[in-house]
Amino acid sequence: MTGRERGDGESPRRVKPEDLTAESPFTLPGFFAALSDGRLLGGRCDECEQAFVPPRPACYACGSREIAVEEQPREGTILTNTEVARPAPAFAADAPLTIAIVELDSGVRLTGRVAADYEEVEIGTPVELTVRELTDQEKEFALDHEEEWPLHVFEPA
Ligand SMILES: [Zn+2]
Repeated sequence: MTGRERGDGESPRRVKPEDLTAESPFTLPGFFAALSDGRLLGGRCDECEQAFVPPRPACYACGSREIAVEEQPREGTILTNTEVARPAPAFAADAPLTIAIVELDSGVRLTGRVAADYEEVEIGTPVELTVRELTDQEKEFALDHEEEWPLHVFEPA
């Protein structure tokens, strides 16, 4: 049964344009406000079950606008990783950086920094998502509206 066929009285979760305020998790300000509180939010499509981070008002897999917002688990494993020797200037002080695509236990995939040397992690390494404020140096390179947005970092679990 798909969401459109649901006849049990459950209210549909279709996202309407007027719902897209700065507090909405479907906007980046709303998404990062939740992340500042340590909650990583994702969306899950009612029609095809596709999950994604951050939540978007429409499913990129099937186009449905019936999207449920779900808090994501912090635990996941590294799908692939690389080392960035010369990162963008905001992160130059931390070079080299380890960057990974992590699959969270919900199936959502997320790219981010790993707080470990490249040699210390590999495909399959379990990691946990942490959230921190930007450093002063990182803030120098951020746009004004990004300065309060936190940075997620994966720690080996
Ligand atoms: Zn879908």
